[in-house]
Amino acid sequence: MKIGGLNKLTTQDFPGNLACIIFTSGCNFNCDYCYNRDLVESNTTDISLDEVFSYLEERKNMLDGVVISGGEPTIWNDLIPFIERIKEYGFKIKLDTNGYKPEVLKEIIDKNLVDYIAMDIKAVFNNYYKIINKKIDTNKIIESIKLINESKIDHEFRTTIIKGMHTKEDLDEIVKLVNGSPYYLQNFKMEDTVINKKMEGFTEDELNDLKNHFKNKPNVTVRYI
Ligand code: SF4
Repeated sequence: MKIGGLNKLTTQDFPGNLACIIFTSGCNFNCDYCYNRDLVESNTTDISLDEVFSYLEERKNMLDGVVISGGEPTIWNDLIPFIERIKEYGFKIKLDTNGYKPEVLKEIIDKNLVDYIAMDIKAVFNNYYKIINKKIDTNKIIESIKLINESKIDHEFRTTIIKGMHTKEDLDEIVKLVNGSPYYLQNFKMEDTVINKKMEGFTEDELNDLKNHFKNKPNVTVRYI
């Protein structure tokens, strides 16, 4: 597998844990709003596995966990042995995924290899291609949502919301799919790496309106930034 980045410390990305983040290169999607374009296009300088593991060895008594993010980690055939090796250090593991490799998620869940899974749901299924710029088999997304929901592993789902792309009706549909699991609506923010410069996030009033719309759904959280 190719590692394109290592963030040595995060207090925010793994709920309740002090962690580092390992970013794998490459992705099977090509989202208009991707913040990690260099990783997706494998334009980063690779970090060797030796470097990664020597960092983990140094920090094994200081960090609680490791976040594996990307890019999309599940595209790599050696992800599972990689996770197994990290677990030997005693770290908790969080996996970030776009959910397009349910067979890999199934193996990870069945082997109880991770402590937390965060899965992005890009849009309602008939709009997926508008965000990820390719046609996909959305049954795979459904399968991953189901696998994660039925697992005993802590998890969350999240959608980056874009003005004109995500309607309340769309989000109602996704809320049904996540079936009571924690679901975060994170507002889109323009960054240099975003390809589609026409995209806009919701205004504060629109976010307040959304928050009000979901006030009776305690599992749904609107994140303003
Ligand atoms: S799935 Fe994530 S990493 Fe891949 S292109 Fe989309 S936003 Fe970027």
